[in-house]
Amino acid sequence: LASRDFHPDNTVIRIGDVSIGGDELVIMGGPCAVESPEQIDEIARLVKASGAQVLRGGAFKPRTGPYSFQGVGVEGLVMMAEAGKKHGLLTITEVMTPEYVDVCAEYADILQVGTRNMQNFDLLRKLGTIQTPVLLKRGFSSTYDEFLNAAEYILAGGNPNVMLCERGIRTFEPYTRNTLDLAAIPALQTLSHLPVISDPSHGTGRRELVEPMCKASVAAGANGLIVEMHTDPDNSMTGDGVQSLFPDQFAKLMLDLEQLAPLC
Ligand code: PEP
Ligand code: MN
Repeated sequence: LASRDFHPDNTVIRIGDVSIGGDELVIMGGPCAVESPEQIDEIARLVKASGAQVLRGGAFKPRTGPYSFQGVGVEGLVMMAEAGKKHGLLTITEVMTPEYVDVCAEYADILQVGTRNMQNFDLLRKLGTIQTPVLLKRGFSSTYDEFLNAAEYILAGGNPNVMLCERGIRTFEPYTRNTLDLAAIPALQTLSHLPVISDPSHGTGRRELVEPMCKASVAAGANGLIVEMHTDPDNSMTGDGVQSLFPDQFAKLMLDLEQLAPLC
């Protein structure tokens, strides 16, 4: 079902006025994690003012260590839904377990599967039983074939609204947190009809590399971008402040992107 062989036309996912996978770019911006109502409200305002369409923010955070901040949980879903509604943005948030799929889908417009859960097959199966769009991130050590098979689990369950997200893979290079595999964008679009979104924030782990890799991703044909932005990155509650754009950088990026491709 994920293969282009059986589905020659591009899949276009429509959510409200936003179409993902057509000729227009979708931009998702926001913090790594939802921290407080004030934080997400202010970031939502800035995301909207910059011209992006989707607010990102994790309420449940998949942290490498068990003692790290794990997210604010369901309260974060409520905070983000309110900010999205107030500022006229769609929302995307990560879901980590099958048990939380329904509550996350109640509050968010798009559900994200993180890199660490790409092969959480129970989660993928559960996501196949609903119609909420899913942004599936590539596992950081996964091949395209494994990635597309993970998407297949969701599609096979009956949910056709899947977008693929290249977020960088693990290589021998420690300077960047991951290596953003730009070739994955056109390769996945050749192999599959599903929209492909690029995540240069996790794909590089370095703020100064985000803008050039966003532009490179658009040049490579990405259908959209997911970008971390924070009003106070140095004090963000996850370690992802180092890769988060400042609001003025995000606004400038949006202006530059408008020159490259029409936005949704
Ligand atoms: C995130 O989007 O904040 C995140 C945890 O992403 P990934 O699963 O790609 O590491
Ligand atoms: Mn993050």
